[in-house]
Amino acid sequence: MGTHFSRSVAEGRAFMQIIDGRPVDALSGERIDVASPSDGKVFASIPASGEADVDRAVKAARHAFDEGPWGRMPAVERGRCLTRLFQLVEKNGEELAALESRDTGKPIRQGKADVTATMRYYEFYGGAADKIHGDTIPFLEGYTALTLREPHGVVAAITPWNYPMQILARVVGAALAMGNTLVVKPAEDASLTTLRIAELALEAGIPAGVFNVITGYGRAAGAALSAHPLIDYVTFTGSPLTGTAIQQAAAVNNRGVTMELGGKSPQIVFADADIDAAIPVLVNAIIQNGGQTCSAGSRVLVERPAYEKVAAALAERFGALVAGPHDADLDIGPLINPAQRDRVGGFIAAAQDAGIPLLARGTVAPDAPEGGYYQAPALFGNVDPDAALAQEEVFGPVLSLFPFTDEADAVRLANSTEFGLVAGVWTRDGARQHRVAKRVRAGQVFVNGYGAGGGIELPFGGFKKSGHGREKGFEALFDMSATKTIVFNHG
Ligand code: NAD
Repeated sequence: MGTHFSRSVAEGRAFMQIIDGRPVDALSGERIDVASPSDGKVFASIPASGEADVDRAVKAARHAFDEGPWGRMPAVERGRCLTRLFQLVEKNGEELAALESRDTGKPIRQGKADVTATMRYYEFYGGAADKIHGDTIPFLEGYTALTLREPHGVVAAITPWNYPMQILARVVGAALAMGNTLVVKPAEDASLTTLRIAELALEAGIPAGVFNVITGYGRAAGAALSAHPLIDYVTFTGSPLTGTAIQQAAAVNNRGVTMELGGKSPQIVFADADIDAAIPVLVNAIIQNGGQTCSAGSRVLVERPAYEKVAAALAERFGALVAGPHDADLDIGPLINPAQRDRVGGFIAAAQDAGIPLLARGTVAPDAPEGGYYQAPALFGNVDPDAALAQEEVFGPVLSLFPFTDEADAVRLANSTEFGLVAGVWTRDGARQHRVAKRVRAGQVFVNGYGAGGGIELPFGGFKKSGHGREKGFEALFDMSATKTIVFNHG
């Protein structure tokens, strides 16, 4: 399997959603065309579900939680189900990578990297399922008090299109390890690997009704799911605006939520840093997945004495970057859809109109298919910290450079957006590494490195508009469960 396979996988397939362990169409029979962002051509379709389909899926998950074998299964057995899913993802890795790559347009090597991360999530949470436990608490004489970590019940998961398979895995891994059941609504632009993984989950022995998938538009299926009264908890990864709508819907039923929203993450480079080591990391942090990464390092802040050197090195790299179809495996693929391509193009045009210097622009491969959604990478220098480019999430291959004068100025600039997801700090000064890492408002800080999306073991989530709650690592198991306190009066 290779290039040819990633160009033809799932050709002509009418995908079904998975409810109660069975492949089912939308009750209305309506479908959504699936196009490849590389050439804009339709190659498959998914069901367009509405409220009635959501109700079916939620009731299946409810029944599986309340009555099914899942609730009584020992934690070690739940863990083994996830471990088998890890093995099945590995076995079907080529197909999954090709499917993800064709569906989202991401270069095939990124599709493969996503498979590796997906495997690690199921492996990690498979192993963790029987290793999380409660406490005993010193209490009054004559009493014993203890805590249990219990599942919420039915969890609704609404996921985005940028890393569908990976984001699914971090939610499913943690939710199922803790004994919840699930209804997942993937993004309408990228649902295929989620449907395939749900099939593999059945093969792995996860009982019918535990892991349901409904497909459809956010405003229909997503809205109905987040508002459903039989849901116990909602986890969402996506844009801040949709996050607000989902929290409002869940608030009507007073349900808990985890929100993984956007970012405008800074990479701070001090003049004493190892600049040569930093440059490729700075570039990759924004170029990975075409910049469509919540934790993309989209702002590079450079101490003035090093500014010209860093700007020149980045410009050289950016000028050489090439966008092309997923199977050509170039620096970046197309963006997810025409609206996203035009939105990113709008940011670039507005920045140029405002006189922000464009330091370098990559290219689109001359043989990239006409109908694809391409946008060449762009590097802007001396960006005004109040400009839209400095404040808003572009979600594309656009990097902004900012000079700063000293440590206090760097921290002020780093914290000057409404977001707070990830930050990078480059300096050889150990005391400064600690000071800046503590003062930057971000859920993850990398010192002399950057991990856009990586580190399945590392707790991940935002401050401010980037959201609340934590996923990944052991922390996610706390988000996916609730503490019950039991007090025995034994005299
Ligand atoms: P989006 O908010 O448009 O869509 C995400 C999901 O929400 C999709 O499944 C969509 O169908 C659904 N949805 C849309 N409207 C809805 C509604 N009214 N009710 C319920 N569901 C609805 O986001 P996107 O464009 O798919 O993804 C890009 C965004 O996601 C970016 O802002 C990015 O930063 C963010 N993101 C964050 C993380 C993170 O972990 N922090 C990870 C990936 C992406």
